[in-house]
Amino acid sequence: MKAAILEALDKIALKEVAVPEVDQESILVRVKACSVCGSDIRIFHHGNPRVKPPVVIGHEVAGEIVKTGKNVKNFKTGDKIALGADVPCGECDFCKNGLGNNCAVNYAIGYQFPGGFSEYMLLNETTVKYGPVNKIPDGVSFEEASLAEPLACCINATERSPVELGDTVLIIGAGPAGIMLLQLAKILGASKVIISQRSKHRLEQAKKFNPDVAIEGTGEILIQQVLKATNGAGPDVIFTACPSNEAQQDAVRLVKQRGRVNFFGGLAKGKSEITVDSNLIHYKECNISGSHGSVPRQHKLALELIAAKKINVKGLISHRFKLVEIEKAFQAAEQHNGMKVIVEC
Ligand SMILES: [Zn+2]
Ligand SMILES: [Zn+2]
Repeated sequence: MKAAILEALDKIALKEVAVPEVDQESILVRVKACSVCGSDIRIFHHGNPRVKPPVVIGHEVAGEIVKTGKNVKNFKTGDKIALGADVPCGECDFCKNGLGNNCAVNYAIGYQFPGGFSEYMLLNETTVKYGPVNKIPDGVSFEEASLAEPLACCINATERSPVELGDTVLIIGAGPAGIMLLQLAKILGASKVIISQRSKHRLEQAKKFNPDVAIEGTGEILIQQVLKATNGAGPDVIFTACPSNEAQQDAVRLVKQRGRVNFFGGLAKGKSEITVDSNLIHYKECNISGSHGSVPRQHKLALELIAAKKINVKGLISHRFKLVEIEKAFQAAEQHNGMKVIVEC
């Protein structure tokens, strides 16, 4: 089979390798679509302690089961499935309590376990038993199903920082995750959703998803415009869907009394300190929380929301490439003039 092997930093090459062998507990998947995540690009350039080259990365995967081990009961050949990224270990207290994204081992597809930029991939016993492996509902394409993974992470954010009926919500960052959060805020009952973005191009794309207010800019421009759009009160809920220290600081300044701030996007390693006036948190009685990854339940819900046409993920797809064009796919994902880049494997 063909697989895109990450051999070293900045080096990915299409190789002919053996199709993995299925043991009694595992599943072999013919990958149909694997979308490129920002974290794939970070791994490509900077590596990750959980990724040891040579390895296949890619964790936003959909495909079809072609072989199952004889002890596998819940899946069969021909099932169309989508995968989440975070695989619960199944043994620690977090995983046993449905909080696998908080697992200290933090297994993930395309990290410790082989990923989806490959014609076939093997789901090991842990993944089959506990993992985010969910059947694709009727009417959902493979490329849409691959986007259930990032959508699940956005669902996790809205569980950590709930949006209530009539809330005003600000999303800082109009990339794919920001636009998914915008759509979730609307179906959760927000009466006003504001989205902001540093650059014009992405903001224009976000406008197709009907935000109530779209703001181009950061810092003081953002603060002034958000205060104007909320009659000086600030938003009830703010998601920072960008890797920006400034956005996190601004969010704490802007949030309304009793409001919720969610640090959805992580910050660059070694540069992840921010400065906040803690009295803002004290006097406003606001909640600051983070969110990271997702759990299998949220991934299943993401597929259901896509199938029910509550969330439009298809509109986020800007590029499609074949597996042999993996480098081009990474370049397109990096250029930020597009949104989601799909690799058809
Ligand atoms: Zn991802
Ligand atoms: Zn665990």
